[in-house]
Amino acid sequence: MFNMTKNVVANLLTKSSTRLYPFAVRGHFEGFRGTLVNNIDECIFCRSCMIKCPSQCITVDNKVGTWTCDAMACVYCGICVDVCPTNCLSMTKEHRPVSTEHETISLQGVPKKKKKEAAAE
Ligand code: SF4
Ligand code: SF4
Repeated sequence: MFNMTKNVVANLLTKSSTRLYPFAVRGHFEGFRGTLVNNIDECIFCRSCMIKCPSQCITVDNKVGTWTCDAMACVYCGICVDVCPTNCLSMTKEHRPVSTEHETISLQGVPKKKKKEAAAE
């Protein structure tokens, strides 16, 4: 009983060790990996991200210039971001929103060949 009273008094006099979520949200820790985004205009469709992705959730078609990612299969390891030669891949500081439907990120860019043709004109 004495021990319990001591703990109750100590807890009343010290700062709470929990937060009033969602009113008090904890900040991100260093190296936090949020939503994966691709600045498709900078993508050269080299397929490095697709080859290195451990969950095989990225598909790159370098002929038509499409980049897709099965967001629900992504494990947020960040390898694709690390290997991207143009740094067009990045991870935001936001969690991916909750979804009740299968979510695929599909982006259309301009393949290298078409960019070259456009530059030559
Ligand atoms: S973060 Fe990891 S799992 Fe997700 S797409 Fe990139 S390489 Fe694949
Ligand atoms: S590694 Fe980067 S540049 Fe290469 S296909 Fe993936 S997103 Fe595009």
